[in-house]
Parts: sequence; structure tokens; C-alpha cells
Amino acid sequence: MKNLTVAKALDMMQKKEISARELIDAAFARIDEIDGEVKAFMTLTHDKAVAAASVIDARRSNGEELGQLAGIPMALKDNLCTKGILTTCSSKILHNFIPPYDAAVVELLRDAGAIMAGKTNMDEFAMGSSTENSGFFTTRNPWDTERVPGGSSGGSAASVAAGEVLFALGSDTGGSIRQPAAFCGVVGLKPTYGRVSRYGLVAFASSLDQIGPLTRDIRDCALVMNIIAAQDIRDTTSADIETPDYTACLDGNVKGMKIGVPREYFAEGIDPRVKESVNKAIELLVSMGAEADEISLPHTEYGIPAYYLIAPAEASSNLARYDGVQYGLRVEADNLIEMYRKTRSQGFGPEVKRRIMLGTYALSSGYYDAYYLKALKVRTLIKQDFGHAFSRYDVIITPTTPGVAFPAGAVEDPLTMYMNDVCTIAANLAGLPALSMPCGSIDGLPVGLQLLGKPFAESTVLRVAYAYEQNSGLELKIPNTPPKEVRFNGQI
Ligand code: GLN
Repeated sequence: MKNLTVAKALDMMQKKEISARELIDAAFARIDEIDGEVKAFMTLTHDKAVAAASVIDARRSNGEELGQLAGIPMALKDNLCTKGILTTCSSKILHNFIPPYDAAVVELLRDAGAIMAGKTNMDEFAMGSSTENSGFFTTRNPWDTERVPGGSSGGSAASVAAGEVLFALGSDTGGSIRQPAAFCGVVGLKPTYGRVSRYGLVAFASSLDQIGPLTRDIRDCALVMNIIAAQDIRDTTSADIETPDYTACLDGNVKGMKIGVPREYFAEGIDPRVKESVNKAIELLVSMGAEADEISLPHTEYGIPAYYLIAPAEASSNLARYDGVQYGLRVEADNLIEMYRKTRSQGFGPEVKRRIMLGTYALSSGYYDAYYLKALKVRTLIKQDFGHAFSRYDVIITPTTPGVAFPAGAVEDPLTMYMNDVCTIAANLAGLPALSMPCGSIDGLPVGLQLLGKPFAESTVLRVAYAYEQNSGLELKIPNTPPKEVRFNGQI
């Protein structure tokens, strides 16, 4: 598991050098070895996984045609509905929720033959940047278990980084795929809004949420996107745009590509060593024939305030459904109102309550125009900034995060935690595709490079990312057990 990628494992299975059963056994052996420390998983689905692997092996030996990801062990964030399998969103209010249906991406991956090893831990309802807001336990960064893996898809990122599975899915509302990808030294892609169906994703902020892959390299990201990017009439925001073969653009050629480098993303507050890594990556792309210019995205500074009005506003509405009546936690009381009150007060954690209060306030009459409507206008300005930039540039490159993974417990106040999203939020507000990939390390901790593209130009983003990956000299590295012995040592 430590040296494999999805592409390599598929090749080995094709050549009958390894069976799906052996691969899933190796995944669970690695989980046994390391997950006590990393704690990436909420739920393991060992027996179902082994049964699915055996079916694939039998079908292969019968010469039957198999799906494109047949036999590949994967993990899913615990906010993706899985029929008959616990789906908690790492919230006590859903501690017993067993969905009666699968999310669209779960169906697609199953049809492609991918095998779920389990569901991963996350910040409760995807609200957070460290996985410390999980209602159950905290996941640790495999490169240094004293540190956080990022969030909210921290369990998914850690499971891939630790070599427990070959890929995972996360969700990204303001950076929750890219920030943990950066902290854990893996690749994470938030697709264009509408590219991947949100059907069966437990809603946080519906106008911002997107599902995307966390993988060990760029080719694997393309392979997973080939499966999950599909129109779905059950999600009315799902786009009716044909899915290209995302591996077709991985040719290593960036000649003549135009890169915009927005100065606002290199301002105060970004660790100078992060800036240096990102600048070196841009220099490498330029040496390969790309052109890079400094640009301005003037409304960048309003991204965080706009997001922290819009996302909580939508969340306060989406989370109204958890009332103890239909599913999830129910705390009995003398009357209905008391039952609602007790259920919600015991079921939701502090960050979720904070967001519900913020959102309810922002939407209340008298404040709606001053806060929510204003935030929507700012969102339009941010979108226009990108529109102007992308009329001249093919991709925009920035750091993914202001710094590297921080120690667990180190960030106590919510505002400082919110600042983790300073580089990632704009892509959600504007609905753009954005990818994070490793571009070096600081004191053994991974640094993330962010590439943003035009709407539905995932292929362009992947092309540039692949070209960089192939020439960066960074190698795929998986931490040993105990994890602290070997740190991330990818160097440019
Ligand atoms: N960290 C951000 C938040 O707390 C983003 C979360 C996400 O993308 N799901 O809202």
C-alpha cells in the first residue's frame, strides 16, 4: 500500500500480479497498523469490502469486463450517504443515522468497481479546518501525529496520506478538500460547482458544496474524476456538460500556458517559506515554457467575511431538519418544543451552534439586507475578479494555505481557525475548479500549491498540475509506523 497508486494497482491487477482480495487485505492490514494513531476512520466496512473484492476476482477470472476502478480500495467522507451503512457527519445528532439510499458518487464508484474500506472522520457537518470539531474524536496528521490533518475532510486526506486506501472522496465548501490535502501532502480537487452531483451529500451550504477526490498523484485524480463527474437529474445544479477523459490532458506540456499569480495571495500572514515553495513551483513551470504574470484580484480580502455570512446562512436553513422527529438523535421531553430544544442542544457541537446562530441572525428581517444581501453582492464582485483574470490567463496559482499543519489544540478562537481558508474560499464563492498538490516541505511538513481554472476547465488545471508533478522531483512518500520516524521529505 505504501508504494501504490490507483494507476499502478489497476495495472498490477490487470496483469494478475495481485488480486483485489490481496489489495483489500493489504489496505486493512495498513489500517490495523496505523489507524489507532491516525484515527482517520469513523466506520470500517471490512466484511462488505472483502466480499466485494472476491466478486471482482471471480469476475476477472471468468474473463468478464470490469469497471474502470475495479478492486481499488477507497474511503468516503462520512457526509456521503451510504445505503445501509452508518453516516454520521461526525455529529452526535446523526450518531445512529443509516441512510436508505446511496449518494450519486457512491453509486458511480461502486459501478466502477471501487471498494469502500470505510467512512472517514470529519469536522461536524463539514464545519472546520482541523477535524477537531468532530463530535467523536480528532484525526491526526500522519506526518506528525501531534498535528492536525486539516479539515473538514481530515479523515479522508489522512487515510490517503497514511497509505490506508488508494483514494478518498471529500467535500469542499470553503476549502475542505484542498486544505487537508495540503496539510497531508496529497492531491485534492474541488471540481467546478455543478460538475459532480451533490445528490446524497449531506448539505452544509448548498451553493458552495462540491464533492471531489483526494489522491496520491495527479493521474489518480483524473482517473477518479472520470468516474464521478457526470450529470445527474437528481441534483438540479448538476451541469449538462459532457465529461471529457481527464487523463487525456496529462501530456506534460505547458508551453505557452498563461499563469496569473495574484499578489493578494502572497500578502502578510502567509508564511514566507510557503511563498518561497510556491514561487519555486511557478519558476519551474516558467522554465518549462509557461508564462507567469503578477495579477490582482482586488476583492480577495472580502472573501472570508462574505463566506462566513453566506455559508452559515445556508447552514442554518439546511440544519433545521435535525429536530428529533424523523431521524437521528431524539431527546425525549414533556412537550414538542422542549424535545426540539433538548435534541438540538445535545446533538449539535459548539461550532455548529455558532454557525446556526450566525446564519439565523444574518437572515433575520432587518439584517438580511445589511448582511446576507451585501455578502451576495460581494460574492458577485469576487466572481467578476476571476472573470477578468481568466479572460487573459489559463490558470491562477496561489498557496493553498497560509502555513503548514498546526499542532492539535493550538488554534482556540474561531476567527483564527477561519483564516485557514483565506486562500481557498474564493474558488467556492466563484464556483471554480481548484486543486491542491504538494510542492515541498517545511520542517518535514507538506506545503500545498493551489491551481485554479475557468469553470469546467478541470482538464487545464490537471494538465498544468501533472506537468509540475512530473518535473518537480517530488516523490510519493508515505509515513512509516510509528509515523514520526519518517517525515514528508519531498523537496523541489
Ligand atoms: N473550513 C471552512 C468552514 O469551516 C470550510 C469547510 C468546508 O469546506 N466544508 O466552513
